Amino acid sequence: MVSGPELDHARETAETALRHMAVLGIPATPENYAVWFAYAAGSDPHLRRTIDILMDNGQEFDDLRNAELHARFVLPTYRTSAVDTVADDLHAVAGQLSTTVGHAGDGVRRYGDALSNVSGALHQTDAGDIEMRSLVTGLMQETRAMEANNARLRERLEQSSSEITRLRESLEETRREASTDGLTGIANRMRFERELRTAAAAAMEDGTTLCLLMADIDHFKVFNDTHGHSVGDQVLRLVARVLSEAVRPGDLVARYGGEEFTVILPDCELDEAARIAERIRDRIGHRHVVRRSTGDNLGAVTLSLGATAYRFGEPIAQAVERADAALYRAKQAGRNRVEVDGDPAAA
Ligand code: GH3
Ligand code: MG
Ligand code: MG
Repeated sequence: MVSGPELDHARETAETALRHMAVLGIPATPENYAVWFAYAAGSDPHLRRTIDILMDNGQEFDDLRNAELHARFVLPTYRTSAVDTVADDLHAVAGQLSTTVGHAGDGVRRYGDALSNVSGALHQTDAGDIEMRSLVTGLMQETRAMEANNARLRERLEQSSSEITRLRESLEETRREASTDGLTGIANRMRFERELRTAAAAAMEDGTTLCLLMADIDHFKVFNDTHGHSVGDQVLRLVARVLSEAVRPGDLVARYGGEEFTVILPDCELDEAARIAERIRDRIGHRHVVRRSTGDNLGAVTLSLGATAYRFGEPIAQAVERADAALYRAKQAGRNRVEVDGDPAAA
């Protein structure tokens, strides 16, 4: 316990310290207070001489100077047993906190605020317990160090997480590129085959009808030779767009290769598939191709289509072959038409 006369002495020392600080305009932080308390107490002749010289020379006690004084004269005295133990414990706690970085930052800040309040309260009361103040000041420094450490950890964590996000995005991009046709932006053949396999399995499981369309642009070689490859590319993009606009969200339009396209129609009866094919054929035939550079109308291209329904249990390649065979019949029958597998009259 601190006795009466000792308490009086401590109070006088504290008042002297605060007076100096007020006169010199030094902020009443715990660190500065520790410096000036030590100065007023005369406990460290080196500190006393240094400050006296500074004052005699009319030097300013700005933040940098105050921090220097604290680091040089006050900090080393904290390295005493009791404070050391607490500080070490605090370091251990900080170590644990760092592992739960998300909440740690807030926790440390709140803890620091609480310490600030305790420190402030100590300064306001006349308790004048130097050791207690020193202890609190030391704790606050450790807390700040911990806080800074936490901020660094959090920053590193954020860096890694944004790095992970970037990697994930580039992986998705790669995956998208691998399953997308570069010219038209619709699914490529690889994705078509993958999706057809999935759709066939789902159809068998649900007992629903799965249909498949095969489409091929008529006399496209002639069109290309007459108007040029880049207008041909423009036509391929147009056909891809018309196909995509003609189907439901759950359907899949893909470029099978060259000027051939395919459509997967899950949960769709064959007569409905034939109607969809007919609608596509009609729309393509009504779209005029315009050469962008000159505005010339190059007329329309036409499309031939074959439709088939998937038979439960058959290899998907067999369904593709049947749709292809129906398409071949449409070509043979004069092009710009739809042929339905197993029902030549439904065209
Ligand atoms: P058919 O009515 O029998 O289908 O006749 P076709 O001329 O459309 O068929 P063919 O198989 O003889 O020719 C296909 C043409 O499609 C050949 C090629 O010039 C064109 N083609 C294939 N892929 C592309 C492409 O990526 N861009 C362009 N511009 N043309 C392509
Ligand atoms: Mg072809
Ligand atoms: Mg063709």
